[in-house]
Amino acid sequence: MKIKGMCVKMPQVFDIQKYSIHDGDGIRTSIFFQGCPLRCAWCHNPESQQKKPQLLWNREKCTGCGWCAGVCPQKAITMEQGVPVLDRDACIGCGKCVMECLESARAVSGERKSVRELLEAGEKDRVFYEESGGGVTLSGGEVMTAEPFEEVVELCRGFFEKGISVFIDTSGFASWERFERILPYVTAFLYDIKAVNPETHQKWIGVDNRLILENLRKLSAAGADIRLRLPLVSGINDSREEIEAVLQLLQSGIHVRKIHLLPYHDIGKNKYARLDRSYDEAALAPPTPEHLEELAEILRQTGVPVVIGG
Ligand code: SF4
Ligand code: SF4
Repeated sequence: MKIKGMCVKMPQVFDIQKYSIHDGDGIRTSIFFQGCPLRCAWCHNPESQQKKPQLLWNREKCTGCGWCAGVCPQKAITMEQGVPVLDRDACIGCGKCVMECLESARAVSGERKSVRELLEAGEKDRVFYEESGGGVTLSGGEVMTAEPFEEVVELCRGFFEKGISVFIDTSGFASWERFERILPYVTAFLYDIKAVNPETHQKWIGVDNRLILENLRKLSAAGADIRLRLPLVSGINDSREEIEAVLQLLQSGIHVRKIHLLPYHDIGKNKYARLDRSYDEAALAPPTPEHLEELAEILRQTGVPVVIGG
């Protein structure tokens, strides 16, 4: 079957994970797109936030040989007192320093892939999808703001035409027009609500949440299969008031098939230093198991299954 646009280059992808069991039903292949308009304080993929490729540097592995500074075509690395210092504005993510570093102290996040390459990657494990009820999940970063979006639409359509289920893992912070365009090809949405309280959302996520809530309402009205995901951080968005606000939102006519409570984890914290960024570890902790159970009980009033975890 001919898929339109297969030769056109895709937006940046920073990872493809096979045999994923936490990104939707069954065994899935998860494709992670580079670039995200949100700035969650607890983001566990900080290398995915910028749209352009990001260079990571592992201080423990680096011997300070300075080879990377010599091979960089952009002169983006300078040696200062035996330490390579990166000018991120000048770096174009070409990966030359990654290939040349004998210590494997560098890695680059973000690589362009064609629709054809991604369809092939997703199709390889078809046998596992068929046995487990799985498929492909497009995630990020934020797949709904990936550019050019036409290629994301083509990818969804390509999987749909091959009979492979597509889940979209999204923050919801994208234009409704984009959701409308992919809706016919999507099996389900893994939809994050980080906070209903607008001040909390602005403070910890860095953007207004009105668009996210509007899109959730519109997806529900369109009959989409929505799995709501609530990442919860102690003292930030795990109050009873906040979860009661989620309950009210759902009781106002938004239909979801399942609710996941996702306690904070610090799996991405080491990446921040590799990106020359700070991480506010002291401000971040998971809710206790007892508190999570209390919050789950509030949401069970919806009649929808509530699970703790992905
Ligand atoms: S080439 Fe590798 S080991 Fe040498 S300075 Fe650069 S990052 Fe460090
Ligand atoms: S990725 Fe390329 S441009 Fe960036 S520092 Fe390495 S060699 Fe230079």
